[in-house]
Amino acid sequence: MFLYSIIIVMEKVRGLKKIHEKWFERCKCDLKKTATQPVPGDGNADAKIVFIGEAPGKSEDEQGKPFVGAAGKFLAEMLESIGLKREEIYITNIVKYRPPNNRDPKPDEIALYSPFLIRQINVIQPKVIATLGRFSMVFIMEQFGLGDELKPISKMHGMVFDAKTDSGNVKILPLYHPAVSVYNPNTKKDLLADFQTLKKLLIPGMST
Ligand code: URA
Repeated sequence: MFLYSIIIVMEKVRGLKKIHEKWFERCKCDLKKTATQPVPGDGNADAKIVFIGEAPGKSEDEQGKPFVGAAGKFLAEMLESIGLKREEIYITNIVKYRPPNNRDPKPDEIALYSPFLIRQINVIQPKVIATLGRFSMVFIMEQFGLGDELKPISKMHGMVFDAKTDSGNVKILPLYHPAVSVYNPNTKKDLLADFQTLKKLLIPGMST
């Protein structure tokens, strides 16, 4: 059984590597002209939870890892509040290269990169997908046939939605983007409360 689990994890690591190499080598897009490097994703290939942000910022572009700047530090604080370490989760963005001057991702960029995100989700097979901010919330809700439920993020954060992936059931939890909450005590309070919801989702046998 133990050996079987190791083989599964190795398969997932290999699966992610394959996806990462594909977009690095094959993807043609203007963001490559201004970005330093791709930021594919980081963390545990066998994670129960996948966090999805928007696109890499300056620090992420420099280091090749998502959420390593101010928003990432804040996210680490939130994870710590429920006893989770970054090594236990997987974290990525919809768009895998930094948009110039950190502008919002454009619809054609989301369309270009989102198939890679879906493949990442299919490899990892998480139990929970936590979206960070409006862009990933809208994309994931629509992708999983929940577009009719969409409302402003101020109404949706902390709500739990059931969806099906190729590999089984998954819970979707929209969250505020940590970059918004860094300087806003109200959204920080909401985010802390929503992480308590996340904690419950991760306890086996418990779901909200
Ligand atoms: N904001 C994001 O959405 N993603 C990152 O990786 C960093 C900041």
